[in-house]
Formats: sequence, structure tokens, C-alpha cells
Amino acid sequence: MQETTLLIRGERCAATGNASFERRNPISGEAASRAPAATLDDARAACDAAAAAFPAWAETGPTERRALLLKAAHALEARADRFIAAMAAETGASPAWAGFNVHLAAGMLQEAAALTTQISGQVIPSDVPGSLAMGIRQPAGVVLGIAPWNAPVILGVRAIATPLACGNTVVLKGSELCPVTHGLIVEALIEGGFPAGVVNFLTNAPEDAPAIVEALIAHEAVRRVNFTGSTRVGRIIAGTCAKYLKPAVLELGGKAPVLVLDDADLDAAVNGTAFGAFANSGQICMSTERIIVDEAIADEFVARLAAKARALPLGDPRHGPVVLGSVVDMAAVERCNAMIEDALAKGATLVCGGKADSTLMPATLLDRVTPEMAIYHEETFGPVKGIVRVAGVDAAVACANDNPFGLSSAVFSRDVAKAWEVARRVRAGICHINGPTVHDEAQMPFGGVNDSGYGRFGGQAGVAEFTELRWITVQTRPRHYPF
Ligand code: NAD
Repeated sequence: MQETTLLIRGERCAATGNASFERRNPISGEAASRAPAATLDDARAACDAAAAAFPAWAETGPTERRALLLKAAHALEARADRFIAAMAAETGASPAWAGFNVHLAAGMLQEAAALTTQISGQVIPSDVPGSLAMGIRQPAGVVLGIAPWNAPVILGVRAIATPLACGNTVVLKGSELCPVTHGLIVEALIEGGFPAGVVNFLTNAPEDAPAIVEALIAHEAVRRVNFTGSTRVGRIIAGTCAKYLKPAVLELGGKAPVLVLDDADLDAAVNGTAFGAFANSGQICMSTERIIVDEAIADEFVARLAAKARALPLGDPRHGPVVLGSVVDMAAVERCNAMIEDALAKGATLVCGGKADSTLMPATLLDRVTPEMAIYHEETFGPVKGIVRVAGVDAAVACANDNPFGLSSAVFSRDVAKAWEVARRVRAGICHINGPTVHDEAQMPFGGVNDSGYGRFGGQAGVAEFTELRWITVQTRPRHYPF
């Protein structure tokens, strides 16, 4: 069994009182990891440490910050095998998904390193004679990052990389479902050489999450909050941030549609849809959750997609390479099983896969899904996907927009001008033409609309979120006053 610790004031430590909690492997039920169950005192101590480290860190130059972020990126990559083992043990993720996590997360640290010299301002024309007016970006203060389990390396790193690059100090709250995986990120940052208190790390027992999170948000030094997780908890975080007037970036759930138009290249559409739907067993916020197909090509498309889905290898990731590993727990299986039953009872057709009695769920496709079915509206967050047949482009767009989520989306068509118009009409933060809904790069403005949250990670958009934009003037000549 693997273990991790808290990191407060540069010291790896147990929780006050030594309490801890256990995470079990989703397939075997064996103990996978043990982590400290932080107390409210630990939460406050982590914020105090970040606050104490802030003034000096905010004064460091870009070259120093860049060097540490690059060193951390190397240290992260050097731990790839340990990340793969920890993710297989804690969340049942496949080695390919874990490896991709490490690769993209290292890229995020490298991109953050590059951003350190790109935190620029403006000289703004003033109507006051002799007034040199500037908009400058300063570090905001302590940034709290709360990361989930499903893409743990990417999302744990994303929560803190740009904030650190901007000169903020951070407190990372890891997920209860993968504390050791998140702890490995912290280990890489320690090796990067960040001064004590610049990076702090907390893990908590699941039942303590509401109180710990409120204590962290409430702490007077915390100036920004970012949360990646479900829409249900996102609403709670948004409410708490409103109570304490803390700005937040919220990256929440999704129900990403892929629109396959009647002139789509079917091979490209099948490959893009299968990847978007079944990577990490469908447990990605950008996962393709709604397959919207023009009825003119639906029979052919569904047959080809089903053949591809049936051939995807499924198994225990601890015993070799697979595409579909384990879903995160039996609750996910029960949620997916219930949606399959509901859809079949209301007239859907099972094309491949089906209900599961363990966390090894097969790639499952349900055809002829309608708005009466739960799977039409709700996130499965598993390898179970509904196909909706529509007639024409307007019906496809209307179907795509018939949902409160709005994170990612995709359109397949050989007519790029037509697909561009569709992309403009789909209500989602992200849309890929002739590419999968699952696509993330460190430098891109990543984020959603409506129930998928607000704010953007990535590149300059991230700099705007994690800095304070100040207006500063210098009066260079005597100024005229009315009295
Ligand atoms: P979750 O919302 O259940 O948990 C996330 C965090 O919330 C945990 O760290 C937990 O400690 C905390 N939490 C739980 N209850 C709380 C409470 N009452 N008050 C305060 N904090 C509380 O999410 P999850 O199951 O870990 O992740 C899956 C969800 O995340 C999916 O809905 C997925 O779509 C979404 N997600 C979104 C993105 C994105 O970028 N938009 C990325 C990945 C995952």
C-alpha cells in the first residue's frame, strides 16, 4: 500500500492528531493507499504558510520562476512509472491514460514556465495631460486549487501551474480518491526547488470535505479559488466563494455532443467518436456523451462505430495494457446500469456492451436515444453513450443545445464552412471541427459555459484569472485641479 503526506511550510507531515484515511482499489477492493485526514487547523496552517511565503515569491523574477517550473516538469516526467502504478491502484486507470496525464501535465508546467515572461500590461491613453496610465498585472496572493481524480495529474498540475508562474503561492487540495497520485505531483514540485510555503498540499477524509473546503475559501489570505469537479459540488463552491467574495474559476461537468453531419468522412467520425467516448472509460469532462448523427448516414455510422467499440480491449490495468480499465467505483457502475435500463425500457436499442456487475465496464452504445431517457440529459461519466438520430443540420444543432452543460463539442463534416457555422451556433466553450471532443493543450483557453462553469485555464486566459489587474498612473507634469 502506498502512502502520502501533507506539505505545509515546506515540511512533509501527518495531519494534526495523526488521523488518516484509506483508498481502496476499485477492482479488487484491496487497500490501495493511505493519506492524512487534514484537520481545520491543518487547513488554516497551509493557508498561513502560503501567505507567509507570498511576499518573497511575488518578488522573484521570471527567470527564477521559470527555472523551478521546468525542473518540476522534468521531475514529474521522471516519475511516470510511479504515476502509472498509483493511478492503476487508486482509480483503475489504464497505463495509456496515466502516461498521457504525465505527458500533458509536464507540458502544462513547461507552458507555465514560458508564461513567466508573458505577464504583460498596457499603457493606456489618458485624457489627463501628463498622466502616464498603465494597466499592470500583479500576483493575486494565495491561490486555492481543488482537483478531482479522473485526470489527476493534468488537473492537479493545472490547478497550480499558472498561478505559480504568475507569482502566487498555492494550496492544492487533493482528491480523496487518489491522494497518492496527487502527492506525487507535490513530490515533483519539491524536487523542482520551490521555496518553503510556496506550494502546500492537503488531503482530507471524504466526510471532512465540506468543512475543510469552507475553511480554505474563508481564509483571509486566499485571493483566488479554482475548482475542477462536478457541477453539484461546483454550485456549493460558487456559493461559498460568493459568501466570502472570492473570485473562482469553475471547471465542472459536461455532456459533450459530437455532431456527425450527412457529409462527414465516416472513418474520421468513427475514430474521433470512439476516442472521445471511450478514452479513460468515458470518465473525462470532455468525454463524448451525446452522439448526434444525421439519419441519412446513421445506419452505416452506427455499424462502423459498434465494430470499433466491440474491439476495444478491456481489463485490469495492473496486469497489462488495455484501452478500457476500471471505472472509479461501483457507484459509477450502478449509475450507468440504471441509465442503460431506463433507456431500454423507453425504446432505445443496445448496439454493443451492456450492464456490468463489476467496475470493468465494456464500451456500451445505445441507439435511438430520445429526450424521455435519462441518458439524453445526464452525464454518464462512464463508457456508456447514447446515439440520437436527427434530420439535417438545424436539428443537429438544436439537439446539441438541448442541454444545460456546455464544455466541449465536435462537428464532423467534409464542408468546413458548414461545420464552422455549426461550431459558432453550438453553446459550448470548446468546439473541434473534424476532431474529437477530448482534446486539451496547455496553451489553449480551456473552459465551459452554463452548467459547465466559468473562467478559463490555459495561456493568457489563465494569466488573466490568476493576477490582479491594477490601474497605476504617474503624473509627469503639474496637474490642473478645479479648486
Ligand atoms: P466531485 O465534485 O465529486 O469532487 C471534487 C472535490 O469536491 C473533491 O475534492 C471533494 O473533496 C470536494 N467536495 C465534495 N463535497 C464537497 C462539499 N460538500 N463541499 C465542498 N467540497 C466538496 O468531483 P469528482 O467526482 O472528483 O470529479 C468528477 C466530475 O468532475 C465530473 O462531473 C466531471 O465532468 C468533472 N470534471 C470537470 C473537468 C473540467 O475541466 N471541466 C475536468 C475533470 C472533471
